[in-house]
Amino acid sequence: MKTIKGLIAAGLAETEAARRIRRDENMSRVYAEYPELREIDSRIIDIRKDRLIAMIDHDERLAKRYDIEENNLISKREQIISDNDIDPDFDEEQSLCPKCGDTGFVKGKDGTLKVCSCKQAELEECYESCGLGDYSSFTMKNYRDDYLGDGQKRSEIKKQMLKVMLGVGDASSKALWLYSGAPQTGKTYLSVCITKTAISLGKSAFYTKCENLASLENDTLEDMKRIDFLIIDDFADDVTMHGDIGSVLNSILEIRTASGLCTILVSALPLADLINGCDMRVSGKLGRAGKIS
Ligand SMILES: [Zn+2]
Repeated sequence: MKTIKGLIAAGLAETEAARRIRRDENMSRVYAEYPELREIDSRIIDIRKDRLIAMIDHDERLAKRYDIEENNLISKREQIISDNDIDPDFDEEQSLCPKCGDTGFVKGKDGTLKVCSCKQAELEECYESCGLGDYSSFTMKNYRDDYLGDGQKRSEIKKQMLKVMLGVGDASSKALWLYSGAPQTGKTYLSVCITKTAISLGKSAFYTKCENLASLENDTLEDMKRIDFLIIDDFADDVTMHGDIGSVLNSILEIRTASGLCTILVSALPLADLINGCDMRVSGKLGRAGKIS
C-alpha cells in the first residue's frame, strides 16, 4: 500500500530536475538577451577561482585586487538587472510551487501540516491504494451533518472520529475504538472521509470492509499492522466467524493495539451483540475498546 509521504518523496527527484531545467532555461533566455551579463557572470566565476589560488599562495595584494574587481562587476551586474527589470533570481533554482516550496506540505490555520494542493494527483493515487478507490466522490467538504436527520448527533460523531484519528484529548488514551450506529446513518461516508482526512494530514491510513479482510493480499494485511490509522467498516459478529477473518482481524488488532496505533471498527450492531457473537479473541478486545456513538 502506498503512503502519501512515500508518494511525495518519490516525486522529489522529478521536481528537482524540473526546477533545474527551469533555471537553465531562464539563464539562457536572459543571457541571450543581455550578453554583457553572461560575460560579467563568467568573469566573476573566473575571478573567484583566481582569488582562491592567490589566497593559497598567500598573495594578499593580488587577492585584494580580485576583491575590488569582483565588487565592481557585481555593481555593474546589479545595475544591468535593475535597468532592464530582470528577475534578480533568474539564475537561482526556484520552487515550482510557491505555496509549499515543493515540500508537498503546507501549514494550515491551526498550525498542522497538510498535503499541498499541488500534490492532488499523489493524494488521488494514495486514496486508490488505501482502499478508497470506490469512493472518489466522498469528500469531507460535501459531508453534511443534517443530511440523514439528527444533524447535531452526526456533527458530534464527526468530531469524536476526528479526535480519535488525531489522537487528541481523551482519544489519546485508547488505540482501539468502536463506532456503533444504526444502519443508514452515513457511517461509511464519514469513515471514508475521516480516512481521506488522515491521509491529507500525511498519515499512512487504510479503509476496508471487514469481509474484505479475507481477500486482501498478504502484503496489505502486513502493512495494516503498522500504518498510523485503520478503519474497518461493516464490522459484524458473524463476519468474524467466517473463514479465517477472526484470526486475521485478531492478529491485526493485537499488534496495532500493542503499538498504540489507532483502529476504528465501524458497525451497525450494538456493542453487547458484537461481544456475544464475535470470535472469542476479538470480543475480548471489544470489551476494552473506546466507544464512539
Ligand atoms: Zn505545493
